[in-house]
Amino acid sequence: MTEHLNHFIEGASFEASDGRRINLVNPVTEQVYGSSAQGTTEDVDRAVAAAHRQLEGGAWSQLDGAQRGQLLSKLADLVERDSELLADMDANAIGRSPIEPRRMDLPNAIANLRAAAGWANQLEGRTIPTGGYFGTKTLSYTVREPVGVVGAIVPWNSPLMITVWKLAALLAAGCTVVIKPSEETPQSALHLAVLAQEAGFPDGVINVVTGYGNEVGRALCEHPLVAKISFTGSPEAGREIQRTAGVLFKRVALELGGKSPQIVFDDASFEDALRGCALGLFANQGQVCAAGSRILVHRSIADRFGAALADAAEAVNVGDPRQPGVQMGPVAKKAQFDRVNRYIQLGIDQGASLLAGGVSTPERGWFVRPTIFTNANNAMAIAQDEIFGPVGTLITFDSEEEAIALANDSSYGLAATVWTTDLVRAHRVAAAVKAGAVGINCWSPLDANLPWGGVKTSGIGREGGFAGAVAYTEEKVITVLLPS
Ligand code: NAD
Repeated sequence: MTEHLNHFIEGASFEASDGRRINLVNPVTEQVYGSSAQGTTEDVDRAVAAAHRQLEGGAWSQLDGAQRGQLLSKLADLVERDSELLADMDANAIGRSPIEPRRMDLPNAIANLRAAAGWANQLEGRTIPTGGYFGTKTLSYTVREPVGVVGAIVPWNSPLMITVWKLAALLAAGCTVVIKPSEETPQSALHLAVLAQEAGFPDGVINVVTGYGNEVGRALCEHPLVAKISFTGSPEAGREIQRTAGVLFKRVALELGGKSPQIVFDDASFEDALRGCALGLFANQGQVCAAGSRILVHRSIADRFGAALADAAEAVNVGDPRQPGVQMGPVAKKAQFDRVNRYIQLGIDQGASLLAGGVSTPERGWFVRPTIFTNANNAMAIAQDEIFGPVGTLITFDSEEEAIALANDSSYGLAATVWTTDLVRAHRVAAAVKAGAVGINCWSPLDANLPWGGVKTSGIGREGGFAGAVAYTEEKVITVLLPS
């Protein structure tokens, strides 16, 4: 079946204003299976205007927090009803096994919507004691108001879940939104918008404009009626967005990439660390921002651990993810396939040794073999750059201090994992590692109540948790003179 996807603006489907379209390509077969509207500045204008109308006296602006919460609860129920469909949309678009989004992304998205339904009625202000006004007493209090129209720019690796992280929080806060999904994965965001309409959200609160970053994304960043850009994606695009939206004083939240260390001490449970490192390397073909792609291992267990990880890599069944027994599909797109292979070749050229995998040359489909490097050092490109594929780099250390220094010797700081049975050491290392989230004996746990985001090149701001909803508000101070 050929998919023909359009924008969703103010509750209706629209072609691009100039009729252009973007082909959708299946990463398994490399065949075109449909197309989406290639959004224009005019399309963005139309969507932003609709979102703005809802804030300025529209039906949405009249709802209180409890009513917004009820709509979010209904949306959660509908997402749950359609969860297999939504998971399969995301999986098929990037060649991922549907099992992962069914087990991880959808439950997380539903939990986020339910949590946000509760937050919508809890965004309270404060009463603040002050020194008065020229000798007269005053009462000062604050209220939390929605920041305004949000431009939500989303990547392709976990499209629905990341869209919902933004959507749930901004709706709880009373904002409206124009979502720009990745050009590879517009399906689930469009279906989500239709579900929101079914839930009863007024038309215009949630709009989706499909298209490219340098057209639709840029137009959102430049639009005078967009108050905040919430972006998840690469540091390169994040930098560009900061340049464009930042100078216009828009609020900007950036969730960027990572090169997250998994630190395996010699007292770790070998099997648990092995399973966790393999999951952190190979989940979603390694196309995960928190991928644990730098494996720092104590020298005394490095050979045994490397060999076991290589066995785990070789045992991964790579193929068409819709076939039974297949654990890993292709990477999402040709550019990603070329990038991963380029880094594998660079690792070899810079002197690291392959324990498993290597450069891939499949006949058809963008399949990459799970790859493990050893004899690497932290200065190599395969240790410093985010590859965003199933490639792990093993680096040995001799002491806890050295492990911490290696972990922190990175421009990124998104996530980290510490594998050890010594709990005092675990907390000491967790405190010393510069990252937005540290897992102790677990890789990158996600929960609707936990904040998520990075330090350094991994981004600015946090999503998730109550603070994630607060981030879509402005605190306004109101002072009233109280003459006696
Ligand atoms: P990308 O930066 O190429 O694209 C992300 C989104 O931004 C897409 O919708 C794209 O069209 C848009 N875009 C691109 N350039 C833009 C511009 N100049 N202005 C406005 N919008 C623009 O990233 P990607 O390849 O889709 O995703 C991979 C990256 O995302 C990786 O670096 C990964 O680590 C990161 N990521 C981070 C998190 C997180 O939570 N920190 C989660 C998932 C992915």
